[in-house]
Amino acid sequence: MKTYGLFINNEWVKSSREEEENVINPANEETIAKVQKGGVEDARAAIDAAREAFDKGEWPRLSPASRAEAILKLSRFLEEDIIKFGETELANTGKPVKQVVDYDVAYTIDNLRFFAGAARIIDGVAAKEYVTEGTSILRREPVGVVGAITPWNYPLMMVAWRAIPAIAAGNTVVVKPATYTPLSTLELANAVKEAGIPKGVFNVVTGPGSTVGEEIATNPKVDMVAFTGSNEVGRRISSIASGTVKRLSLELGGKAPFIVFNDADIDAATEGAVVGSFVNNGQDCSAATRIYVQESVYEKFRKMYIEKIKKIKVGDPTKRDTDLGPLISSEQLKRVRGYVEVGKNEGEVLYDGGEQEFKSGFFIRPVLIGTEDNKARIVQEEIFGPVSVILKFKGYEEVIEKANDVIYGLGSSVWTKDVRTAMMAARDLRFGTVWINDHVPIPSEMPWSPMKGSGFGASTSRYSLEEFTTLKHVYVDLTGAARKSWYYQVYGEK
Ligand code: NAD
Repeated sequence: MKTYGLFINNEWVKSSREEEENVINPANEETIAKVQKGGVEDARAAIDAAREAFDKGEWPRLSPASRAEAILKLSRFLEEDIIKFGETELANTGKPVKQVVDYDVAYTIDNLRFFAGAARIIDGVAAKEYVTEGTSILRREPVGVVGAITPWNYPLMMVAWRAIPAIAAGNTVVVKPATYTPLSTLELANAVKEAGIPKGVFNVVTGPGSTVGEEIATNPKVDMVAFTGSNEVGRRISSIASGTVKRLSLELGGKAPFIVFNDADIDAATEGAVVGSFVNNGQDCSAATRIYVQESVYEKFRKMYIEKIKKIKVGDPTKRDTDLGPLISSEQLKRVRGYVEVGKNEGEVLYDGGEQEFKSGFFIRPVLIGTEDNKARIVQEEIFGPVSVILKFKGYEEVIEKANDVIYGLGSSVWTKDVRTAMMAARDLRFGTVWINDHVPIPSEMPWSPMKGSGFGASTSRYSLEEFTTLKHVYVDLTGAARKSWYYQVYGEK
């Protein structure tokens, strides 16, 4: 069985207490690897390495082209080893093979290529005399040491989103992957070393959020925390990080509305609802778990949607024809089952795939619940499993109000053939992404950018690199005078 160390200063080291943790395959509950259970001392060692590499190392001072080249090398390692990375992610998350290889890893490679290119177009936009006596220049500089804390639902993609734009912009990072899913991040660390990224630039400390994560969020040597995860932990990080006034980028939960108007192509909308609701087994911050359907097409939509849900194949994630594997853990399975029970009281179960017949693994089949109550917990709270909720609406104003009436503001979609309805909804929905007649795509060039309780800051796109930079104004006197024209305001005469 493979055993991993902590990755600090491009070396594999044991945790200071020499404690290990088992990593489980959620499809069969077998232990597939052992990783270090890092603690506060280990987080400090990694932060010190990152600080040293930022303050004295070559990385922040390299040309953007050299940094881009190293990140491109990283993307090539992923590409050459796409099957290995896919298999690692599959075994650690239970995601079906067609998803990990064709989407998670392939998309991560595209993200990396984009971040490499974008590193070369970071610029400041001023070089001008804004007052006649001096020239102003803007420098866009890296923030410093970034703590990247990532969730378990897209382990490889999330480390790519939180750590790679940071290093592309010249920062150094300490990554803390989710406890359930550290393996692809540790494999990426191997590739980091091979890509020639200098020591201390990319460090990984596995271990609990309560120790390793909190040390990253509070250590005065960390300048910024880029966090993707739950609202609860996001709130905690934002409160404890304030003690040392850190820059934050928070990508939190979602509860995407999926709005079907009566002129929509119902075949297309039901196809979209299946992938939108059940993408990554519903363990997705953009999952379309609130399906609003206009009343005249509600029955047609419901029947067609259920027929399509019935065709979803749940099972062995290593098989190419499997659509959904298990959930990540027994805790997550319990939580999702709990929401199904809540849903039985808050509405009517319209479809339930039933309990899974697997002997082991955290499997659950898709469930569809209908309700009239927009304030129901199953409509308001993030379930993070294959549970879709469907609601009926009468008119435009009503559905926009209901769609916006959640704490979240991440993804949303609108299904209609009418351009005016689509554009009005794009304007009125308070979500960082509005898809029209689709749900899920995020091109690397476009920002995944939350609103409201879903956080702030952009992942992906050139704006994510801006997140990891800070502006510096340089002012150069042009007069050469000992006494500039304004000095009298402080002392002496004009
Ligand atoms: P989580 O908040 O439980 O954990 C996220 C990370 O934070 C993990 O690495 C965890 O160990 C760490 N952590 C836990 N407690 C901590 C603490 N006190 N201090 C510092 N770090 C701590 O989230 P999760 O269950 O791993 O992931 C699911 C959540 O992530 C969902 O809410 C989902 O919507 C969200 N998510 C959001 C996006 C997005 O782009 N907005 C993307 C993926 C997932």
